[in-house]
Formats: sequence, C-alpha cells, structure tokens
Amino acid sequence: MHKFGGHIVIMLVLLLSACAKREEPLYQQQLLTFGTIVEISIWGAEKGLAQQASSQIGEDLQQMHNDWHAWHDSPLVRMNQALSVGASATVPASILPLVQKSIALSRASEGMFNPAIGRLIKLWGFEQDDLPSGPPPDPAAIAALTKQHPGMDDLILDGGRLRSTNPAVQLDFGAIAKGHGVDLAITRLRELGIQNAIINAGGNLRAIGKHGDRPWRIGIRNPRGEGVLASIETRGDESILTSGDYERFYEYQGKRYHHIIDPRSGYPVTGVISVTVIADDAATADAASTALFVAGPQRWREIAKKLGVTQVMLIDGQGRMVVTPAMAKRVRFEVDPSPKVTVAPL
Ligand code: ADP
Ligand code: MG
Repeated sequence: MHKFGGHIVIMLVLLLSACAKREEPLYQQQLLTFGTIVEISIWGAEKGLAQQASSQIGEDLQQMHNDWHAWHDSPLVRMNQALSVGASATVPASILPLVQKSIALSRASEGMFNPAIGRLIKLWGFEQDDLPSGPPPDPAAIAALTKQHPGMDDLILDGGRLRSTNPAVQLDFGAIAKGHGVDLAITRLRELGIQNAIINAGGNLRAIGKHGDRPWRIGIRNPRGEGVLASIETRGDESILTSGDYERFYEYQGKRYHHIIDPRSGYPVTGVISVTVIADDAATADAASTALFVAGPQRWREIAKKLGVTQVMLIDGQGRMVVTPAMAKRVRFEVDPSPKVTVAPL
C-alpha cells in the first residue's frame, strides 16, 4: 500500500514538473532595423521555426531599408536622379509595388499623401537618420519648392519604366514604406507556415491569427506622455497604423516642427496630434494615416471615404478625440478617467 502510494506521489511530481517545463508558445524578438524597433511576436510555432522566421524577416527588412533609402546611395536615389533630369529609369523590382500603390493612394487622397515631395522633406532635414535641430528652412526656399507642385500625377509609368513630366518630383516613400515592409514580412511568415503573429514596426503593425485561444490585443501609445492610451483586439488579419507629430520632431523657439508635411503649404501640419487607421493591409493604413493627418479635422472624413477607410481615430491639436462609428466599436481606452470621445459618422 505504502509503496503504491509513493508511486503516485512520484508520478504526480513528474507530471507537475513536465507541466512547469512546457513553455508558453509565444516567441518574441526585437530587431533594430528599418530605422526603428521592429517587434516580432509569433504564437504556436516551434521555437526553431520562429527563430528562423524572425532572422529571415530581419534580413528582408534590412534589404528593403537599403533599397528604399531616399538619401544614402540606393536604387531609389539613382531613380530620383533620372527623374530630376527628365530621363526615364527602369524601376527596380523592389520599388515597383511602392510606386504603383503610391500613385493610386495619392490620387485617392487628393494628394494629401504625396510621396513626390522628397525635395521638401529634404529641405526640412527629415530625410536623415539624425533629427535636424532648426532653425526651420528659409520660407522663400519652401515656397519655391511648393509652387512647382510635385505630385504623383506627374509620373508616367510604362511597362516598368518611369519618368516624370515635372523635374521637381523626387520620391520619398517614408509614409508608406514601413507599412509595405510589414505587409511583406507577414507574407514571408505565411510562406514559412506561421499563422499567428504580429509584426510591429515602431507602432505600425499587422496581426494575423490569434494569441492561442484569445485574440491578439495591441496597445496604442499615448501621443502626449507615457504609456498606453487605448487597446484594440485584432480580428484575423488586419493592420493598425498611427501617424503622429511625436515620432520625429524638433522644437525651435518654442515651436514644434515635425515630419508630416502638408504638400500644399510646404510646412508641417498643424492642428493634429495623431491619426490611427485600421485597414486590411499595412501599406494602405500607412498611406491613409498620413493622408488623414494632412487632411486635418475639417477634411479627414471626406478623404477617408475616398480611400475606402472606415476605422479611424483622430486626435486634434487640443487633444480632442474623434472616432468613426466602426472605430468606436473596436477601441478600449486604458486611461483613467476615460477620455471624452466624439463619434463622427463618415
Ligand atoms: P510615421 O513615421 O509616424 O509612421 P508617416 O507614416 O506619416 O509617419 O510618414 C512620415 C514620413 O513620410 C516623413 O518622414 C516623410 O519622409 C514622409 N512624408 C511627410 N509628409 C508627407 C506627405 N504629405 N505625403 C507623403 N509622405 C510624406
Ligand atoms: Mg504613413
């Protein structure tokens, strides 16, 4: 009897230790690439596969960063040189989807998202890794570039060759590249057989599948101050991206100059702090969040409709929050007291 009892105890202990050893099947990895911190979360894959997938994604993203760089010597810089002298250039395969998506999204946003303003971005100094420190550029230089109206409509894309009818066009994909890169990383994960994951490039993310038996829950950063403003539970495959005036900025004589430029004025947009968009793919959500930021409190609904985007949260210059009805159903505020939020039908 005694002996038997002893066996049970030992078996229980073994069982318990086996349980304790079983790891939670969540793999997380942070990479410094793409000019930001990229966080990879994978649920339910064997550890070796998850490791292999995340190092592959690290390589992919680094390659994209090199290909799409708007100022280091890169295929994009060489293409921009051709555009500035009216020559036609073969669009490298890695850049072609960015050009195609950007032409369509720029048109749909009435040029609020306008990757043809590379010269303005450069004039402001936001094309570099290091932040500029001010003073802001000479108003005459800003006006000179703005009145040449560089736009994606100036481009003629013909069988993989691109030229510009406006020599002022210089392409800078800063407002869509992260999104497109996240899309490609998700495609890579799926190719490797991974079904449940999040790729988050500095708060710009796409989620697929679930976190075990519950949805992934992601946080939206508080645009002023520390911590998380709100959380959203993702549904299947979707992308959540935010454009904010706090990502890249400098202050000069008490004024904030940030990296989202209104192509009409040539100056950083005022009156908006952040725009969060949920959409099917990250490239669309990225371009849309920038476009709605530029469109501002007066026009964002109209531009959202044109872009086919229904889930939006905008925080205006006074910190007031406006959400679409579809976003209102998704977002849960994590601050106390819960902020006053206006629901605005599109
Ligand atoms: P974030 O870095 O916060 O994700 P965005 O997606 O809005 O920001 O991208 C901002 C970047 O896009 C800038 O650094 C610049 O390179 C470029 N950019 C700035 N203004 C515009 C605009 N109106 N249209 C297209 N690209 C822009
Ligand atoms: Mg963007």
